[in-house]
Amino acid sequence: MKLDVLGCDGGRGLGYKTTSLLFNDTVLIDAGTIQSELTLERACKIEHLFFTHTHFDHIVDLPFFLDATFERRKKPLTIYGSANTLKTLKDHVFNNKIWPDFSVLPTPDKGQFTMKEIKPLETYRAGGLNIMPFNVDHSVPTFGYKLSDESSSVIFSADTSPCQELWRVANEAEHLKGLIMDMSFPISEQHVANLSGHTTANDLEHELQNFNQDCDIYTFSFKVGMADILDEELAKLSHKGRKLHSLRDHRTLSF
Ligand SMILES: [Zn+2]
Repeated sequence: MKLDVLGCDGGRGLGYKTTSLLFNDTVLIDAGTIQSELTLERACKIEHLFFTHTHFDHIVDLPFFLDATFERRKKPLTIYGSANTLKTLKDHVFNNKIWPDFSVLPTPDKGQFTMKEIKPLETYRAGGLNIMPFNVDHSVPTFGYKLSDESSSVIFSADTSPCQELWRVANEAEHLKGLIMDMSFPISEQHVANLSGHTTANDLEHELQNFNQDCDIYTFSFKVGMADILDEELAKLSHKGRKLHSLRDHRTLSF
C-alpha cells in the first residue's frame, strides 16, 4: 500500500498544508490539499474521495479539484461519507451559491461526481483496498478509517479526542503496519484540544496504554506555527520501544 502525504496539518500557512492522504494513486482521504501537490494528470487519476468530516480544512480543495478536472476525468469522482457529511456538502458547498453543483454538470447524466453514503464498521472496496470507517470523537460527526490490502493495514484516526472505538478497531486490525494519530495542540493548550475535540501529547501518552499492537505511529494535524513545540513533545513519546514519527517528515510511505 502506497501513501502520498499531500498535506497533514491542522491549518494552512507557510510550510503548513491541510490534510489529504492519497493511497495507491486513486483513493484520497479528505480534500485539504490537492491542486498544489499534484499535476493535473495525477489529479485526474483520483477516483474515490472518502471524507472524515466536513470541517473546512478537510474539504477546502474539493471545489477547486472538481473545477480543474472538469470534463477531463474519464468517469465521475465518487465521494464517500456519512449521511451527515454528504448532506452538509450538498447544502453548504454545492448549492449553486458557494459553488456550482458539479454532480449535474455539464449535464445531469454526465455529472462530475456521485455521492455514496457509507456506514461505520462496514467495509467498502476502492482502489484495490478494503476501507472501513469507524466513529471517532470530534466536535462534529467524524469517521476514522482502516485501510487494508492483502498484506497490510493502516489506521487513520482523523480529527479526534481520546476515543475507545479507535483502540478497539486498532487492536483488532490484522497486519497493522501504521497508525496515524491526531496530535493537534501542544500540552499548554490542553483546554483548547478538549474544547475542539483534538488530542495532545499528554492525551496520546495516556491513550497508547490501550494499544496492544506494535507498529509505526505517526502524528498529524499540527496547528499552524506549532510544529517546533509539537515536535519537541513528540520526541518524548514512544510505544513498545519505538519512537513516534511526525507525518510531516514524510512525503511518501509504503506499508
Ligand atoms: Zn475537524
